[in-house]
Amino acid sequence: MRYHKPLPAFLLLFLLFFLLSGCAQDPGKPAVPAQTGSGLQVVTSISPLADLIKNVGGDKVQVIALVKPGNDPHDYEPTPEDVRLVATARIFFANGAGEEPYLERLVKNAASPDLKLITLSEGLEILDKGGSGDYADTGNPHLWLDVHNAEAYVRKIRDSLSEVSPQNKDYFEERAGKYLEELDQLDKYITTEISSIPQSNRQMVVFHAAWPYFAKRYNLELKSVVKNSDSEPSAREYADLLTYITSHHVKAVFGEAGFNPKLVQQLAKDTGVTFVGNLYDDTVSPDSEANTYIKMMTLDAQNIVKALK
Ligand SMILES: [Zn+2]
Repeated sequence: MRYHKPLPAFLLLFLLFFLLSGCAQDPGKPAVPAQTGSGLQVVTSISPLADLIKNVGGDKVQVIALVKPGNDPHDYEPTPEDVRLVATARIFFANGAGEEPYLERLVKNAASPDLKLITLSEGLEILDKGGSGDYADTGNPHLWLDVHNAEAYVRKIRDSLSEVSPQNKDYFEERAGKYLEELDQLDKYITTEISSIPQSNRQMVVFHAAWPYFAKRYNLELKSVVKNSDSEPSAREYADLLTYITSHHVKAVFGEAGFNPKLVQQLAKDTGVTFVGNLYDDTVSPDSEANTYIKMMTLDAQNIVKALK
């Protein structure tokens, strides 16, 4: 596994940026200003994707996630500063499938003829599309929680970076090759871990509907609490959930980093099942606990196993 140490220069610039901006609490502000460091400037929406890009791009690429680690991307709105970041970037790596509803406007406002827009989920199987759910129009965007999909993202990142920066093609290919091997290991690890949970316990009740790709790949049954972060369950839906949890002998309910845990905590209290508060899906952790994609997925698998086994 790969564990990045934060670079002192990065930290200094990060602090300097906060001092200059005078506004450390604004969730709309990007984690790093675009004008720092060297290399190909690349922007993406969320931190798990930024980590995939970093692993391929190494020191030839400078990547910025618009939504800072620890924040909920469903609430995110681009700031004028973000528009400037995108305007100076060479590639925007979007997840697609509705993850970036602001994208069209953002790219239009950035008005950069040099900006290449890559949609990482394009060509992959999108779940939850059609029907009556909240993801009926776009499909469910959380494809990266299936490690196989993350591998497809990495291959697309490798090819896009190589196209824009052909002089670094070998470098990107070598790094992507190594990282894909690590992701293969991760996929095997999660498969083994989850398969240690007795079949009848493999039921997940989670705060937001991020988990169908994970559940499908690793053989779990999924029952979400809310379908997206801007709609809470009605009294009737909440009552149905209580009944479901009790009658199916669900062992735990899960909250997620970046999301308000109140509702899931209440659900745990009302049913007497275990509450797990720190699954990572839309964001990596700002601290070293889960500050990379591999670490966040490893920790998620461990926490799921611990709670359901
Ligand atoms: Zn989400």
